[in-house]
Amino acid sequence: MKRIWQSGMIALARSPRVTRWMQGNRAAASIARRFVAGADAAQAMSVARELEKAGFKASLYYLGEYVKDPAIVAENGRQKIAVAESLNAAQLQIHVSVDSTQIGYAIEEAAGEALALRIGSRVRDLGQAGGLPPVLMLNMEDAEYVDRILALRARLLAAGVPIAQTLQAYLKRSAGDLAPMIAAGGGQVRLVKGAFADPRPHAFQSPAEIDENYLRLARMMLGAEARAHGFRPVFGTHDDALIAEIRLIAKNGGWQPGQYEFEMLYGVRTELQRQLRAAGEQVRLYLPFGRDWWPYAVRRVGESPRNAALLARALVSG
Ligand SMILES: Cc1cc2nc3c(=O)[nH]c(=O)nc-3n(C[C@H](O)[C@H](O)[C@H](O)COP(=O)(O)OP(=O)(O)OC[C@H]3O[C@@H](n4cnc5c(N)ncnc54)[C@H](O)[C@@H]3O)c2cc1C
Repeated sequence: MKRIWQSGMIALARSPRVTRWMQGNRAAASIARRFVAGADAAQAMSVARELEKAGFKASLYYLGEYVKDPAIVAENGRQKIAVAESLNAAQLQIHVSVDSTQIGYAIEEAAGEALALRIGSRVRDLGQAGGLPPVLMLNMEDAEYVDRILALRARLLAAGVPIAQTLQAYLKRSAGDLAPMIAAGGGQVRLVKGAFADPRPHAFQSPAEIDENYLRLARMMLGAEARAHGFRPVFGTHDDALIAEIRLIAKNGGWQPGQYEFEMLYGVRTELQRQLRAAGEQVRLYLPFGRDWWPYAVRRVGESPRNAALLARALVSG
């Protein structure tokens, strides 16, 4: 049932007509407010500062996915750089998340790589000016993009960009992708379950299988080899059972909070976010901003059928 609901939301996220309508609809703003930090970098920065005061780290994400318009791709690149500069000016850690399909990969690989290098080099250079180590986090998209995104990661690493990589537990290949990242030393991986429903054999299908694989990968990320190699594990999940298990594995392996971290989406399970902070864990919030909020927000709605009421209210009052 959850799968059908989730697939429906993904279809809604990819419909240009629905996107135009929702983003122009004031009543739908209740969904935007719940999951999105504002329309522009200034609003997002003000939320990031509030979060910092409350003890949370942030990863800023300028919204826009699967972009095929070169003018919008260029604007996305400018926004990523601008927000990295704003974080630097505010003396907050530069932590910026990026989708390959928002910076040109949905049009042409070479152009996407060139823009990624521009953004990455700016993040790298700002970081060298001092302050906390900067991070450019590559999000992971649907299965067709995985090889290209990993190739981009390698290219950015070779250019000295402080790159981190998201891997998805729903894909059977992820253990094989993770192992060399741990072995190479100094890597940083954000592990998520995966936001895509994929019926093909390369994906685990049941929630139980995905959770089992998540824990298997988490054990690798918190293993002795990872610790010896200065690997930095990030667990992007709101699943309290997994989180409890991970905290236990980390403790037994001698990891201190802060050597690993949890990352959750802004507006999702806020009570759990606070509880983890109160327990001394490092918690980062993924903070999206921008005008193109519908595809992102409706995917969040799709992750919890309980959010149906939120969507229904927006549609009825629109
Ligand atoms: C920081 C971060 C970055 C991410 N980056 C990527 C990425 O690059 N690529 C990708 O494919 N996916 C990404 N995701 C999404 C991820 O793959 C999952 O789809 C999403 O996190 C839900 O899975 P879960 O681990 O929270 O577990 P679930 O089993 O889905 O949820 C655990 C619990 O949290 C609740 N919950 C989860 N989501 C919501 C919600 N939106 N509203 C209300 N309750 C909710 C559930 O109801 C359940 O009780 C990211 C997630 C996070 C947190």
